[in-house]
Amino acid sequence: MALKICPFCGNSEPKQPVSILGRWMVECGVPCGAAVRDYATADDAVMAWNRRIPASPVPEMEDKVPLVLYFATRADADEMVAAVQEAFPNRVWRGV
Ligand SMILES: [Zn+2]
Repeated sequence: MALKICPFCGNSEPKQPVSILGRWMVECGVPCGAAVRDYATADDAVMAWNRRIPASPVPEMEDKVPLVLYFATRADADEMVAAVQEAFPNRVWRGV
């Protein structure tokens, strides 16, 4: 399913849907921060993106909200960090 251009910055190639902890999202992929998230399937996320449903009341704050995740093993943590960094290359990540 094709993604429409970003309604905020005009980016014609938003990132393909990604799954984070089992929930799907689409993000612009450039620093404008536009995203739709927390959908059950990739298609749902694409449809939401294409309908221009806002992801967050304050999207420009998204990059400043800490995300804290806990994992059973170091390998699990490293795997998730790698996936998240690939999905959100514009963010700053700090591992412990
Ligand atoms: Zn954008």
